[in-house]
Amino acid sequence: MTNRENPIKDFLSSDRPVLKDSSFKLVRREEQSTRTIVEARGVRWGGTEVVIIAGPCAVESDAQMLETARAVKAGGAKVLRGGAFKPRTSPYSFQGLKEEGLKILARARQTTGLPIVTEVMDARHLDMVCRYADILQVGSRNMQNFTLLEEVGRSSKPVLLKRGLSATIEEFLLAAEYISKQGNGQIILCERGIRTFDTVTKYTLDLNIIPLLKQLSHLPVIVDPSHGTSHWWMVPSLAKAAVAVGADGLMIEVHAHPEEALSDGPQSLRPDKFGLMMETLRAVAQAVGRELPVPTA
Ligand code: PEP
Ligand code: MN
Repeated sequence: MTNRENPIKDFLSSDRPVLKDSSFKLVRREEQSTRTIVEARGVRWGGTEVVIIAGPCAVESDAQMLETARAVKAGGAKVLRGGAFKPRTSPYSFQGLKEEGLKILARARQTTGLPIVTEVMDARHLDMVCRYADILQVGSRNMQNFTLLEEVGRSSKPVLLKRGLSATIEEFLLAAEYISKQGNGQIILCERGIRTFDTVTKYTLDLNIIPLLKQLSHLPVIVDPSHGTSHWWMVPSLAKAAVAVGADGLMIEVHAHPEEALSDGPQSLRPDKFGLMMETLRAVAQAVGRELPVPTA
């Protein structure tokens, strides 16, 4: 008999092994009756507001960061993103400006007031990244880097954990469990697309996982339709879909000159398109009982 009142019991009961391992007890919803609110510098995920993170894939220069930061703030983004350490498939691709990139991010925060999220790729860089970042991003390729998960779990910064590009929902939740087990429960889960048989898009955005994660876990869940589609013109549609299925926020790549971007230009929105997308997103958010506040000056 399926339990229509409490699907989570079905997922976790031993005679219906939909999930093989139910040991993600700290991040599991049943163990905690209230949803976790993740907070960084007054920005909160997990309430009724849909919170938007936006910025370029990689930090390239002060001018690039500041132009983008101002534009995304004007559109209603609450947090600025930008990679200083870039996990690139080829070792010959731009690897990021490293500490100089972190300094550029910090200057953009000082000018705009936007908190910053940036990726920490290696536990050896954690102290350095913590000196600048408000939120630590653990990227897709590191979702099962268990030593890194434990290290960010011992830090005092919120963690944005991206789903591994071929990770099951259970592996994703167990990765979050690694962080939580070390004492840091401030975790945002981020769906960013998984590898499938199709090659027209680099990844396939898995929208199933949003209601699933929200059923199984009390952690906030956000969606990255930029990596999830790999084409800028698909991003607004999937952003709307993500909000409609219950995402607590979005992460969007924006670049003022995508043709000159040092990484992920083809999936980056220009600021004007970002602004338009935000307006339509506001209506979708309202339709599903969420808020996406109009930007203040
Ligand atoms: C990123 O957000 O810039 C990034 C590299 O994402 P992912 O780890 O999802 O590929
Ligand atoms: Mn990117």
